[in-house]
Amino acid sequence: APDGEQCNPAHVLFDTFLRANECEEVLGSFRALCGHLGLEHTGQLCFYHKLKACLNYWSAKALWSKLDKKAGHKDYDQGRACANTKCLIIGAGPCGLRTAIELAFLGARVVVVEKRDSFSRNNVLHLWPFTIHDLRALGAKKFYGRFCTGSLDHISIRQLQLILLKVALLLGVEIHTSVEFKGFLPPAAKASGRGGGWRAALRPNSSPVGQYVFDVLISAGGGKFVPEGFKRKETRGKLAIGITTNFVNHHSRAEVEVPEISGVARIYKQQFFQNLYKKTGIDLENIVYYKDDTHYFVMTAKKQSLLKMGVILEDKSDTESLLSSENVNREALLSYAKEAASFSTNYQLPKMEFALNHQNLPDVDMFDFTCMNRSENAALVYEHSGAQLLIGLVGDCLVEPFWPLGTGVARGFLAAFDAAWMVKRWAAGTPPLEVLAERESIYQHLSQTSADNTNKNISQYSIDPTTRYPNINLNSIKPNQVRDQYLTGMVEHDHKKRDNRISTDSSRGYEELLHWCQAHTAGYRGVAVTDFMHSWKSGLALCALIHHFRPDLLDFDSLAQNDPIGNNQMALDLAEQELGISPVLSSTEMASMSEPDQLGLIAYLSQVFDAFEVPPE
Ligand code: FAD
Repeated sequence: APDGEQCNPAHVLFDTFLRANECEEVLGSFRALCGHLGLEHTGQLCFYHKLKACLNYWSAKALWSKLDKKAGHKDYDQGRACANTKCLIIGAGPCGLRTAIELAFLGARVVVVEKRDSFSRNNVLHLWPFTIHDLRALGAKKFYGRFCTGSLDHISIRQLQLILLKVALLLGVEIHTSVEFKGFLPPAAKASGRGGGWRAALRPNSSPVGQYVFDVLISAGGGKFVPEGFKRKETRGKLAIGITTNFVNHHSRAEVEVPEISGVARIYKQQFFQNLYKKTGIDLENIVYYKDDTHYFVMTAKKQSLLKMGVILEDKSDTESLLSSENVNREALLSYAKEAASFSTNYQLPKMEFALNHQNLPDVDMFDFTCMNRSENAALVYEHSGAQLLIGLVGDCLVEPFWPLGTGVARGFLAAFDAAWMVKRWAAGTPPLEVLAERESIYQHLSQTSADNTNKNISQYSIDPTTRYPNINLNSIKPNQVRDQYLTGMVEHDHKKRDNRISTDSSRGYEELLHWCQAHTAGYRGVAVTDFMHSWKSGLALCALIHHFRPDLLDFDSLAQNDPIGNNQMALDLAEQELGISPVLSSTEMASMSEPDQLGLIAYLSQVFDAFEVPPE
């Protein structure tokens, strides 16, 4: 650093903020910085401009030039696009914070409430190239020097949250930790149009955010939290038990040399899993290993082996009781996870000490992925006493991800951009039903996105959906189809009575769906449906299913027996064009179906079932 700069107290405070490695430390050092500079941390994007003027030295300037470049994008209209919009965001997970940043660039006033007081998740997220590019453009490396160096394409959840938290603060976003959102409160008196009257019920109710009046609410509360009014759709797959575990990373040479087991090139080698089973009794469907702040492993384990190894004490038919803490031997779980991790890294990781979780216990967890939830809709509008409230969902609260596939945060960021686009349209005065219809048209694309089928030009990505999704039709859903999402009148306030996890007709059992597919593909040449994996690879089963109901759409006998990608592509295209079913997996994924893709296939076939069996309303 040039002379004198290191002892400038403002610069020291700023550098402390940049390096802070705990949530509380970030907030504390930021408060100290603002206090020292005499800046009040309010006032949207103009806070950022004031701060910039105070910190005009080399280290800060490198960051400003990145953020200025972002802020100058035409979509934000120099921070005027949402200048009169007030947004409350629930949850400071990666998706809530990422949305907050976009809304801040748009010029909105943004407040985030987070019920926890720390960021403690060591688990590691796989990043798609566009998320890496996106985070770099926000200055990720300035806050976290190790960010995606070399070919690294992952980050621990907590580090990701820290980066985004810092960017959000710099852009004027207000963040309140240890504040839980309990529900929204309609305006008491007559208000008019947008911008009036809605407030939040919070715990503790003494929080100053209780006085904040907003017209947009974004829920990013994670998989367990969905605000009232939204219906959840449940996709029930076959039993899938995920185990995550983290070991301390000392960054020693020996550790550096152990190769990762990437989520993209997962091990499909049967031999590997057979050896693991023979030698240890551990039976896995897949395993991923990332070397990050910790040595992180995520695996899907078979129930029988968990029972045999004494991890699960008693077999039970419902998964919740099966995996309840009373039915799990924690010590056995730790050994199981450690042995699986050691074996799959060829016993090359020295001294495998468990990293600790937020309770100071070994960071090992077991999760149930048998049922995954997604919201039926991405947004709603409430109107009460003339005041409208736009509510949007992002992240896990919109679509729960299957962790071993690592789609969570990539789709989460796409949804964050989509939500910001929606708020921009809302702020521009677009009629509510048009805003909602467009948002749903975009949401239809989300579940079929992969790193391969989104636009290649990632440096051009913006909140504008056309920059990201190829050939998107923003009007595929019409305003008259979203009337049910415009809710007027009283809001129900007895939260305890509500069960947000409404499962709809479209969630049906694995067996039932399998029987249905078997019954309607029986007798077709080259087709034998016995599962939701291998049976579908050739593409013939899907073609047969469509042909059974709509023989006019394709000539089954002329299909090539050995063109899995071609057959699958044809079936997916027909289903999309003729039946309006969006693909969940690509034809390449269908042709090489692997264990984790099963849930996607089940979700897709459930829609095929609906198209043929559920009469139109
Ligand atoms: P989250 O990251 O879940 O954040 C939601 C935030 O909202 C939380 O901080 C929560 O405290 C807060 N919140 C919830 N309700 C309220 C409320 N009423 N008021 C205020 N705040 C509220 N993904 C993987 O790919 N691999 C993994 O190994 C993995 N491990 C995970 C472990 C755990 C314990 C959890 C919860 C999630 C894990 N995930 C994992 C999922 C991954 O974290 C998410 O996909 C990703 O973080 C994006 O999520 P999000 O921002 O939508 O929600």
